[in-house]
Amino acid sequence: MSEQDGKCYFCGAEAVSGESVDRKPACGVCRDRMRDGILLLSVRDDDCRSEPCRTGGMWVLSEAVARRTFCGVDFGTRRWLFVEDGTAAALGFSREKAG
Ligand SMILES: [Zn+2]
Repeated sequence: MSEQDGKCYFCGAEAVSGESVDRKPACGVCRDRMRDGILLLSVRDDDCRSEPCRTGGMWVLSEAVARRTFCGVDFGTRRWLFVEDGTAAALGFSREKAG
């Protein structure tokens, strides 16, 4: 997925041009999710590329829960994370899509 194609980097919906998070296009829904909490995006296990293959799961954690679950991540600036499928399963996240 190109960052220039007008699609939300996080969920793939149409994004209003000029609206972004971490210099990636972000639709209003995802921006709301990241204002309310920490957006998690599931990716394939053991995919270490900077753009790992998405597997379609999306979850929003409260910042307090995210801080306890993902130690060492600065959620003051970072409002989203990739989470491997195996990790998501271990944490008990269901594969329901958020929103
Ligand atoms: Zn989005």
